[in-house]
Amino acid sequence: MATRLYDAIGMKPSSQTESMSKSKHDHVADGGYATTSEPVAVDQNYISWMAKHPSALSSFNRMISGAKGKQIVVFLDYDGTLSPIVSDPECAFMSDQMRAAVRDISNCFPTAIISGRSREKVYEFVKLDSVYYSGSHGLDTIGPALKTNSYDKSYQKRSFDNEGKEFIVFQPAHDFLPAVKKMLTEVKERTQSIPGVAIEDNRFCLSVHYRHVKDEDYGRLEEEVKLMLANHPDFHGTRGKKVLEIRPSIKWNKGDALKYLLESLGFHDSCNVLPIYIGDDRTDEDAFKVLRERGEGYPIIVSSTPRDTMALYSLHNPSEVQSFLTRLSRWGFDNTSVAHHQ
Ligand SMILES: [Mg+2]
Repeated sequence: MATRLYDAIGMKPSSQTESMSKSKHDHVADGGYATTSEPVAVDQNYISWMAKHPSALSSFNRMISGAKGKQIVVFLDYDGTLSPIVSDPECAFMSDQMRAAVRDISNCFPTAIISGRSREKVYEFVKLDSVYYSGSHGLDTIGPALKTNSYDKSYQKRSFDNEGKEFIVFQPAHDFLPAVKKMLTEVKERTQSIPGVAIEDNRFCLSVHYRHVKDEDYGRLEEEVKLMLANHPDFHGTRGKKVLEIRPSIKWNKGDALKYLLESLGFHDSCNVLPIYIGDDRTDEDAFKVLRERGEGYPIIVSSTPRDTMALYSLHNPSEVQSFLTRLSRWGFDNTSVAHHQ
């Protein structure tokens, strides 16, 4: 029975069995999914969903066959993609094995991490100099120095690393910084009497985490954030996983950061590039959309439950992300004559 299901979605039961079997427990823990007595039990909704968004692991050979003659560029979200989602956002550490996988992939292909957190915070977690970083949902991006690009120069600052290598910091919401600082103070004052609230300063945006706020206090928290936003018409609120985000109202998202980085890497309008984007957030959908619109590359969602998505492929959890990156870098080392050096 299980084998037939795997056949239906083009998966082999061997390497997938363990994680799919685990997915049963994940689903049960999440609630809302029925248990079954099958030895390898896979939720039927998840199976149907995976038929539309097949595993990037079992589809690896098919995917990589499209890479011939093209430069692969890898984009990764951080939380929930490279690190597990944890109850304390300060403790979302990535494993040493994952760090090694990201290091290996960045030695093969240009690699960028695009996160909602501040750029500095993501670097603290990842600690790799071979990777480009984009924080604050793409509002703070460090990329390679290219002599010309189509973006506003007044928001791009030339800088040099310790080894004298030139790079560019692009901050399209730079003008909003004083206001974000003011709002940080204000949101702390407004929410200090609500137990369990954690405010995270993401530099160009603020995160109000409410994972530890009691249900009866949530309404008050939401009201305070709404009242504050009413005083700051240049900002708007969005929702993430147990978090309210306060962001400057400019048209810029993770998808725009992806486009900016591709252009900075010299792949503007190029058909010789194969971007791969892996993420688990709603905000990653903006990047998936860009790849779908460009008609190139592979948007991959990390999810253990069926979800509406623009992604073409899926991975079950960060552990599968690690396996995928490891496999991709092995392929890269074997198939690219000159490894990528940054
Ligand atoms: Mg994420």
